[in-house]
Amino acid sequence: MADPRAGAGVRDSGAAGDHGGVHCVDVRTALSARIDGEEPPPGVTAAAVEAHLRGCAECRDWGERARRLRLLAAGLD
Ligand SMILES: [Zn+2]
Repeated sequence: MADPRAGAGVRDSGAAGDHGGVHCVDVRTALSARIDGEEPPPGVTAAAVEAHLRGCAECRDWGERARRLRLLAAGLD
């Protein structure tokens, strides 16, 4: 019997929005929590987030914007 994974030819699923084994929405939740000084969602490790960010420019941009907004909000407080 063939390994079901054989022939796929990819380690990553290649699905859009899924880099480093975590999905964009989970990464953004974790980034938001980090910015707010809260615990990341269970199962979303810092290493997984970093791996995702390396492969996903959209989440890098999102994280930058979130950080900037947070700073702005803090300044306006
Ligand atoms: Zn992403």
